[in-house]
Parts: sequence; C-alpha cells; structure tokens
Amino acid sequence: MNLSHIEHIGIAVKNLDESIEYYQDVLGLKCYAIEEVKDQKVKTAFFMLGETKIELLESTDPEGPIGKFIEKKGEGVHHLAFAVKGIEKALGELKDKGVRLIDETPRKGAEGLDIAFLHPKSTKGVLTELCENKNKS
Ligand code: ZN
Repeated sequence: MNLSHIEHIGIAVKNLDESIEYYQDVLGLKCYAIEEVKDQKVKTAFFMLGETKIELLESTDPEGPIGKFIEKKGEGVHHLAFAVKGIEKALGELKDKGVRLIDETPRKGAEGLDIAFLHPKSTKGVLTELCENKNKS
C-alpha cells in the first residue's frame, strides 16, 4: 500500500460558521472552500496546513452520519484520511488482510476525490478514510 501523507483530518462540528471563526480568528488558518456533500448529508469547510487539510463537517440532517456522531459523542475528531496511490488496489490489499471495509469500492467525496472508509472496528478505533486525487496523480 502506498500512503503518502495525511490528506485531511475530519472534525465534526455543530455549527460550521462558528467553527470557521475559531479556525480563522484564533488559529489564523484560512478557509478556502465550503462545499455541501449531499451524499453524506454534510456541509464541509476546508483549511490547508502544509499538505494536510482540516475538514470541518456540519450535519445537514440529524439522521446523517455526522448528525448521529455528534448526538452520541459530541463535537470532535471524526476521522483520519490518508492520501493513497491506487485506491482500488489498496482496498483489495486491506480486504485480504482482514480489514473490514465500509466502502468496498471508492466513491466520490468532497473536492472530487475518490474516497473509501475503513471500519473503526478494524482500525483500532479510528474511522479511517483513504483518498486519491486522480486529477493529480
Ligand atoms: Zn474525509
């Protein structure tokens, strides 16, 4: 498997605007994109730090994955995303190694990336995402 860096850290927030203010005014980062991912029932805001992004996730539906996460655990780190080359091959390798996949095949995530989630039961408790930017690679 060919992981290159942490692509982003996904953070569940209750209020996107207030959270953007914190990242901008307190931490001095700049929000460069806001995007709604209907598929996942979230609105996202992105910040860049080196090669890594911070992805804030606000639920647009209490029944969506982020809505449920916040209900159960409150705001906080939701998932860790690795940039990978050859996402299909990586998923095959993981499956062979007994890792439980949430997505057996990649789907489209924010920013047009191909993404797939691994189940936290197989990843020591961390919801893990693989991402590949096929426009770049
Ligand atoms: Zn993500």
